Formats: sequence, C-alpha cells, structure tokens
Amino acid sequence: MRRGIPVSPGVAVGTAYCIHEVFVNPETKRLRDSEVTAELAKYEAACDQAAIDLRALRTKVERQVGHEEAAIFGVHESILRDVAFRKKIRDWIVDDRMTAGAALHRLLNEYQSQFARMKDEYLRERVADLRDVVERLGVRLSDVLQPQATPLDGPLIIAADELLPSQAVALGQIDVQGIVTQSGSQTSHAAIIARSRGIPAVSGISGLLRHVKTGDTLVVDGREGLVLINPNAETVAAYRKLEREFFNLKDHLAENRDQPARTSEGIPLELGANINDLRDTDAAKAMGASCVGLYRTEYLYLTHPDVPDEGQQLEVYRQIVEASPGQSVTIRTLDIGGDKTVPYLGHTHQEANPFMGWRSIRLSFEHPEFFAVQVRAILQAAAHAEKLGGKVRILFPMITTLEEMRRLRGIVRRTCEQLRHEGKPFGQVPVGMMLEVPAAAVMIDYMLDLVDFVSIGSNDLVQYLMAADRDNPKVSHLCEPLSPPVLRVLTQVIRSCNRANIPVTLCGEMAGQPRSFALLLGMGLRRFSMSPAFIPTIKELAKKIDRRTAERLLERALEFKTATQIKRFMTSQIQRLAPDLALLDTA
Ligand code: PEP
Ligand code: MG
Repeated sequence: MRRGIPVSPGVAVGTAYCIHEVFVNPETKRLRDSEVTAELAKYEAACDQAAIDLRALRTKVERQVGHEEAAIFGVHESILRDVAFRKKIRDWIVDDRMTAGAALHRLLNEYQSQFARMKDEYLRERVADLRDVVERLGVRLSDVLQPQATPLDGPLIIAADELLPSQAVALGQIDVQGIVTQSGSQTSHAAIIARSRGIPAVSGISGLLRHVKTGDTLVVDGREGLVLINPNAETVAAYRKLEREFFNLKDHLAENRDQPARTSEGIPLELGANINDLRDTDAAKAMGASCVGLYRTEYLYLTHPDVPDEGQQLEVYRQIVEASPGQSVTIRTLDIGGDKTVPYLGHTHQEANPFMGWRSIRLSFEHPEFFAVQVRAILQAAAHAEKLGGKVRILFPMITTLEEMRRLRGIVRRTCEQLRHEGKPFGQVPVGMMLEVPAAAVMIDYMLDLVDFVSIGSNDLVQYLMAADRDNPKVSHLCEPLSPPVLRVLTQVIRSCNRANIPVTLCGEMAGQPRSFALLLGMGLRRFSMSPAFIPTIKELAKKIDRRTAERLLERALEFKTATQIKRFMTSQIQRLAPDLALLDTA
C-alpha cells in the first residue's frame, strides 16, 4: 500500500496500464530501400528530443524534489547515449529494414530476457530504466500521440510518471477507471481532467513505476490518497464493494440533473461546468450544468500540431455553443505556460520559474497575430450563440495589472471594428478577468471599473498567495484553499464584486469541494463553475444549507488561525449536514 495525494475522489479497482505503453506504436512493416535514410534521421531526431526531455526533467525534478530523485534521469540519458545501444538500432534499421519503433522493441525484448536471468535483484530491476528510455523514444517516434486499442480487458488504471495534459485528453478514448501518477498534485491539469471525467485519481506516489507493471491489479482510493498494488482477494472484494457504492451514489445524484440548483431556502445558484473540449459538454449536460463557466481553450492548441487558424477555432467554438444551447459559454483565451507547453509558440518548460514567467496573457500579448485570431473567432462564435438564445463571454487569464485590462479592452474593441468593417457577424461579449494573481486581488476595487465580470481562479490564486507551486507534491500541504489567508482574500474579493454589482464566479477546483463550497456560499458567492462530475454533489449539498448557516460557518472558520483547524471544523460540519456525501469528498 502506498500513500499519495488524493486528487479525485472515488474508488476504483482495475488492471494497471503503464502510460508509455499506451502510446507506443511499434510498426512491424518492412522498410523499402528508399525509406531507410529517412527512418534513420527520424530515429536520431527522436534521440535528440528525448535527450532534451530528459535534461529538462532532471533539472525540474532536481529543483522540485531533490538531487537523489533526479539522478535516475541522468542514468536514462547515459542509456540513451550508449554507443552499443544506438549501434544496434541503427544496424537493424539498415540491415534488417526494421522501423525504429520495431527495432527498439526488439532491443527491449532481448535485454529483458538477459536481465531476467540475472541473480542480482538490483541489476534485474535496471531493465525498468531501459524500458523507460525505449518507451520515451517510442513516444517521440510516433507522430501523433494516439492511444492504441489496449490488449487488456476490463477497466484500466493508468499508471504514469506524470500525465501530460495532451495525453490525458487522448485518454478519453480508453475505458479508464482510475489514474495514479508519480508527480502532479491536486491542481495539476491531469488531476483536473480526472475530476472532470469523474475518475478517481491519486498523485505523488514516489517510485510508482518501479513497483507497478502493466497487468498488475491496482486499487485506487481517491478519497484517502491510497494505492494498493496486487492486494489480496479479501481487500479487492472490500474495495469492489466501495467502488459499487461510489458508482451507485454517482448515478443516484446524477438524477438531480434537471432540478435547479438552490439553497434550502430557495436562493438560486449557478452551477456551471469547467470544460476542456467538446467532449466535456456531454458530461456537463449529463451532470446538469446550467452554463459553461470556464472553457479552457489551451487544449485546442495542445492537440493541434500548429496554431489552429481562425476557421478551425470558430468551428470548435460553434460546436461548443451548439452543445450548450441557450446557455452562457465563457471562453477563456489561451492560458499556456506553467505545466502546459506549446512548442510552436516558442514556449518550453525550460524557464526557471514557469508559473511566474512567460505564461498565459503575458504570452498572448507577445504573439499579437495569434492572439487576434483567437479573439476574432470568439467574437464570431458569440454571434452564433445569440442566434441560439445564448451568449458568449470572453475571459482573460492571469491578469496582474490595470494596464493589461485596459489593453485587452482596446484589443476587443478594435477587433469588433475590424469584423464590422469586413462585414462578418460578431456578438456582444462581456469582457472578464480571471482573478488569480494576489496583486489583482489587492487592486480589485479598481479592476472592477474595467471588467464586466470576474472569475476567480482559485487554483492559481492559492499557489501565488502561498508561494507554493501547485504541481509540486513537496509543497502541496501549503496549497490549501481552506487556509486563513486564502479565505480572507476570497471574502474580500467576493464582497467587493457584490458591492459593485459585478457578477463573480469561482472556477477553481475548490468550487466543487463540499467544505469550500459551503464557505464560499457564506461569503456571498452565488456562481460556481467546476468539473462536471462535482455538480450533482454540490447541488445536493446546496439543498441542505441555507444562507444563515453558510454565513455562520464562515464566521466560525475565520476565527481559526490555521488550515488544520479550519479543515477539521469543516469536515465535521459537512459530515453533520450531509453524511451521505463522504464518499465523494477527498481527505
Ligand atoms: C484556476 O487557476 O483556478 C483556474 C481555474 O485556471 P487553471 O486551473 O486552468 O489554471
Ligand atoms: Mg489558472
């Protein structure tokens, strides 16, 4: 049994599938003579790219975790540079006309049988490192990350070092019941995707890939952050029972999808969905979301080989608008950087402080030509929404200063003029800012003069307020929304917005967590946007709380001086108000 960070609630039992294998695509065809040179070049380029990846990973792990943990990537780099290794692959490509992928698999198989005969357990285990290198090269060799039809039956539990956002999106096509990763945290994007799909997930399990092989039985307990590897039959049976209860509870709650969201005395609430792509609109509908509160457009960019052009973007936005007829759809402009990279925009992971660096709106400002394409597509999608009785709102991420907001309003205004001039239809879009940077929270009263609405991105706000990287398991204890400073800042921001009559939503992960939800309600928040999977739970909880109760809970919570006290207090209060929801909360 291993303990990590609980990132998505629920319980799952299934067969382990180690992530790289899902993406490796060994081709068995024989090369024609004319293809050999190109295949060799492709192999060399994959090696170069893998070496760059490994170096970046090593630096990152060294900085975030420690020297010892990072050393393994140095070992992988030396395997990659190994002359015998590379010569073998080249020979097989040239002499046997094998594709690079097939040659790598042959090499792995050869080594695997040699290593298996070794007496020394330590050496026997080194084959895992070779496998890692081969799989990394395999990923680099395949042009597109396409999950293959898996050879395993039944529900799968994905085991990975770190689930890249683009991989997590691709996983939508596989029957995944659980996710376990070595790195990542509550608010890493892989975790967010797991939650949006209602998949139990645990992060921060060190040494995971050394202990888990494809085909092992895994239990994921996303409430407690536990992972059990090949547990005995009784344990499996006990967890299967919990898993069934989890499914039943989810199904039962989803039946409330057509009921309006209200507090116990009938105050209407907006429970919107955070979506990452068109597919998520199905989940939003199934879970009863009343709007799209946050559409993260970066996944459109992440899954495209190049900047998606205006027509491509407009088409996707139109589809999303059509999938949410009559509703409000809030489209957030590209928020790349931090844990998400788009190489074609000149962005890489190599910055010393990616979350504080060239990220999000800062990057968009430096690519005015690409940014304009997105703003144009959003404004035109708004015309389409209006025809269907809905509306589109435009949301700008990571706003830090008033100047940025002024500049953005200018861009929107000029884009409207341009479209009018070109005779293209466009809609009226409210312009909003994401409140994620403490500097903007301090200046909120002035910011409100420049925006039509505010969306609080608590995932980032918490990491910046606490100076604790949201993806670093070593500091995840500090990234705590239920901490006194966070609650104080949120209370102040929400009250400022309400006083100024500026609509305010919170779209960070805490919106979908029962303990935080109750406190946000007490602060006067009435609009929430969350992973669709959380909507039924929150709707059910809302029915059990009235405004006064929520306000009293907030008053009490603000009297505590530490996060531990607040969490303990709120756990007991939610247990009292809604004891049946415990299976759907994380510890
Ligand atoms: C947030 O920061 O809370 C947010 C919703 O944005 P993201 O998680 O995409 O950074
Ligand atoms: Mg954010």
